[in-house]
Amino acid sequence: MAECLFCRIAAKEIPAQVVYEDELIIAFRDINPQAPVHLLIIPKGHVASVREIDEAHPLVAGRLLRVARDLAKQEGVAESGYRLVVNTGQDAGQAIAHLHLHLLGGRAMGWPPG
Ligand code: AMP
Ligand code: ZN
Repeated sequence: MAECLFCRIAAKEIPAQVVYEDELIIAFRDINPQAPVHLLIIPKGHVASVREIDEAHPLVAGRLLRVARDLAKQEGVAESGYRLVVNTGQDAGQAIAHLHLHLLGGRAMGWPPG
């Protein structure tokens, strides 16, 4: 989608600090990090949210998780621990309507989230 910010990052039309890329997935540093490590892992193809994952995207959810696992290791937080978050819709505060997995780590985090 031409007007979608994360589609534009995936297409390299908008710069980002890319930390991983393959044919399906791209991951980059969050512009407003909430932890020492804060990455966003997204499918390159436009999927608005978890609600829109369907048979057309059979690999996406599993691949996002596996890339997150590998990036946690790469970023040095695999052992100390990390949080994976997928905000979905209004009540969760999803601001960007392109599916993204937050990977947060490098500090202790509270629960439940506010
Ligand atoms: P969410 O509230 O789950 O939709 O999260 C959107 C995230 O995207 C926020 O953590 C923002 O800081 C982040 N963000 C917004 N614009 C950019 C950008 N241009 N590059 C990297 N991260 C961004
Ligand atoms: Zn998009």
